[in-house]
Amino acid sequence: MEQLRVLVIGAHPDDNDFKCGGIALKYLEKGHRVRFLSVCDGGAGHHEMTREETAARRKKETEEVARITGIEYDVWDIPDCCVVATLENRMRMVNYIREFNPDIIFTHRTNDYHADHRNTAMLVQDAAYLLIVPNFCPETPAMKKNPVIMFTSDRFTIPPFKPDIVIPTDDVTDKKFEMMNCHVSQVYEWLPFTIGKLDRVPKDAEERFEWLRCPRVPRNGKPMKLKDLNVPTDHNHSEYREAADAVRYRKTIAKRYGKKVAKQTLFAEAFQVSEYGSKLTKDNIDKLFPF
Ligand SMILES: [Zn+2]
Repeated sequence: MEQLRVLVIGAHPDDNDFKCGGIALKYLEKGHRVRFLSVCDGGAGHHEMTREETAARRKKETEEVARITGIEYDVWDIPDCCVVATLENRMRMVNYIREFNPDIIFTHRTNDYHADHRNTAMLVQDAAYLLIVPNFCPETPAMKKNPVIMFTSDRFTIPPFKPDIVIPTDDVTDKKFEMMNCHVSQVYEWLPFTIGKLDRVPKDAEERFEWLRCPRVPRNGKPMKLKDLNVPTDHNHSEYREAADAVRYRKTIAKRYGKKVAKQTLFAEAFQVSEYGSKLTKDNIDKLFPF
């Protein structure tokens, strides 16, 4: 088997875990190499700690993710909320991607609520073609071929996300929640604070881990419908979030895996191909998505 090199590029030190944690674990299980890059340091993501304290703590959280999964996790030093698609950052991105030499890259779309997400997506798209241009950043050898670039799913509508491939993640969802559980400063502190629910977070580590996953989706053999997704939750990270792409894109799952699997799938992650990387074709899709 040829080992794939998979690069996930998110703005903040948790975006990759939320959007690609499942598929990353599936690649690792098959013996492929997975690297996560957080383009900024995440230092703005707390209501009590300073930028320096927050960035240092979040770096440790990414190291914990790396320890429990085998993902290589890099965090750049760009300050949180300050990612800009400058020429300097474009060159940094081109050099960085070339050095890892990925077969496939996952990142945000450029229409997104957060300026860091938009600019990270822009940096990846700006790098895309330049990866193979030897006279740009000649200090790092140009790649022979552009990687395939995939966008992670979101709910923004102008234009809407349209999945090209949807991967069932039921087999890795337990572990994905363990990854999210590593980002203590976010899932149990900052994110609940931003929605006024900090007082809902249990103090005990085991209780709060269960709280993170709750409410759990029904396991009664009946496929959930779109309207079933409208349940009140304390936060954005319950099982319902992991189920959303499986429910919304059941037809796309059925196209690849058949109706039976699509019906049984509880959790999934969805991806759309970028026009600016290599094409996703009948010939390469099963190699790049070997599950
Ligand atoms: Zn983010």
